Amino acid sequence: MPLARDYAGLLDNRSFGGSLVSRTFYARGQTGQQLLLGAYSALNKQIALSNIHSHVRSEMQSLVLVNGHAKGIITRNLVTGKIDRHAADVIVLATGGYSTVFYLSTNAVNCNVSAAFNAYKNGALFANPCYTQIHPTCIPVAGDFQSKLTLMSESLRNDGRVWVPNKQNDARKPQDIDEQERDYYLERKYPSFGNLSPRDIASRSAKEACDAGKGVGASKLGVYLDFKDAINRYGKNVIENRYGNLFHMYYKITHENPYETPMRIFPAPHYTMGGLWVNYELMSNVPGLFVLGEANFSDHGANRLGASALMQGLADGYFVLPYTISPYLNTIQPGSTSITMKEFDVEEEKVKDKINNLLNIKGKEPAESFHKQLGLLMWNACGMARTKSKLLDALKKIPEIRDEFWHSARIPGTHDTYNPYLERANRIADYLEFAELMCHDALNRSESCGGHFREESQTSEGEALRRDDEFCYVASWEYKGNNQKPLLHKEPLIFENVALTQRSYK
Ligand SMILES: Cc1cc2nc3c(=O)[nH]c(=O)nc-3n(C[C@H](O)[C@H](O)[C@H](O)COP(=O)(O)OP(=O)(O)OC[C@H]3O[C@@H](n4cnc5c(N)ncnc54)[C@H](O)[C@@H]3O)c2cc1C
Repeated sequence: MPLARDYAGLLDNRSFGGSLVSRTFYARGQTGQQLLLGAYSALNKQIALSNIHSHVRSEMQSLVLVNGHAKGIITRNLVTGKIDRHAADVIVLATGGYSTVFYLSTNAVNCNVSAAFNAYKNGALFANPCYTQIHPTCIPVAGDFQSKLTLMSESLRNDGRVWVPNKQNDARKPQDIDEQERDYYLERKYPSFGNLSPRDIASRSAKEACDAGKGVGASKLGVYLDFKDAINRYGKNVIENRYGNLFHMYYKITHENPYETPMRIFPAPHYTMGGLWVNYELMSNVPGLFVLGEANFSDHGANRLGASALMQGLADGYFVLPYTISPYLNTIQPGSTSITMKEFDVEEEKVKDKINNLLNIKGKEPAESFHKQLGLLMWNACGMARTKSKLLDALKKIPEIRDEFWHSARIPGTHDTYNPYLERANRIADYLEFAELMCHDALNRSESCGGHFREESQTSEGEALRRDDEFCYVASWEYKGNNQKPLLHKEPLIFENVALTQRSYK
């Protein structure tokens, strides 16, 4: 992939939030996209060489276990509705994260938790489900009919200065607000990291400023990211070279020119650190089920710093799995599974029952509206800031929304054609169960840690207060059946070479 180079032709570096040194290679403001295209091209090459058989528009519905080992999956062809069985010696699940549980997120609208959640229901442990990342640099929500949010790269905070007006409900244009009437709150509160404070801190501070009535834009849920000083210092050309594509995207979406007026940004769900539990070989507790990338829980803990997700995904796939999958394959008899086994009958029946039940609801309310309700509830109760009472309230309301969904959702069409309504409703049904698991996990973890802030657990300065003596463990949850509370397994985190300390970015 084409990475940026400096004047001498060497690879150039940028800073990302949470680090004071420039140590990250980049490709303009589209590093993630370029990595994705690189990996996707490599995949297509293997498909063309017939080393990979690609089943496009096929969605995994269920995991099949034979004698406790992962031995197959059931899929649904999203174009024809056909249900298929696939038998295998080993299963590698890499189905991404679940930020869309919040409905609005920077992720593609079709991202979902369904495959991972089904594996959980079939015995795989789900670790730290409440660990989600809220990215500080997104374009604010513009209205009620929006289905997705847009990320502005974190790299913008290398040159942009974050501020809000000192005065509450200040309706003046940013250009009309003098320097002394502005609060550059990240620079004020965290002088050493300033605008490059890590994502959790930058997000929480933006929320605090808006909660204090200092938010900007029509919704008042936004803060300014201002490039005026950087443009004055380096010239418009330099800034355009660095971020031109992002500025262009911002202009297209908001019709505001960030070269002339500050961008408006607000935090949005972006990444999920929680996921299926795996060991160092990337195998879940279900033998033969390997989980890679954002779908697993590993590497990032409670707080993910920038630019690490795709590298984790690539490392998992290129450098780890090829070496760790063979020891498992050595222990089994290859080709011993067949799709005619009764275990496949059972799982296929379950998949068909769920689809029929969805189509038989025949209610009046679009399934999507339940997703919106759930997303807002989760954003308020299990998002950036959490309290015991809000989480208990969410645990009461989620089953109510779920019941309402199963009584009143409108899912038109049939199962044997291209039916995006059914496709979506199928995923929403899973989110309506999974959200409860997230809230159980968040309720249990009554400390502030990484990307999540437990309001009851803060320092006298209002900073996140970790409680390592009680919570220094991975919380892995075991499915115990429909409407049953999941069982918590604690895996202690043991630090041998570094001592745990409270973070400070002041
Ligand atoms: C806007 C944006 C910008 C980002 N920028 C960066 C960046 O600059 N650097 C960085 O490191 N990270 C970045 N990230 C994060 C990074 O892109 C993701 O964490 C990473 O792509 C996850 O890779 P993955 O392969 O695990 O999952 P994904 O890329 O989400 O892929 C999952 C795949 O599984 C498929 N799938 C899902 N469910 C099923 C199912 N049931 N059956 C079959 N297939 C299924 C999906 O269609 C998808 O193709 C960014 C993320 C976003 C949203």
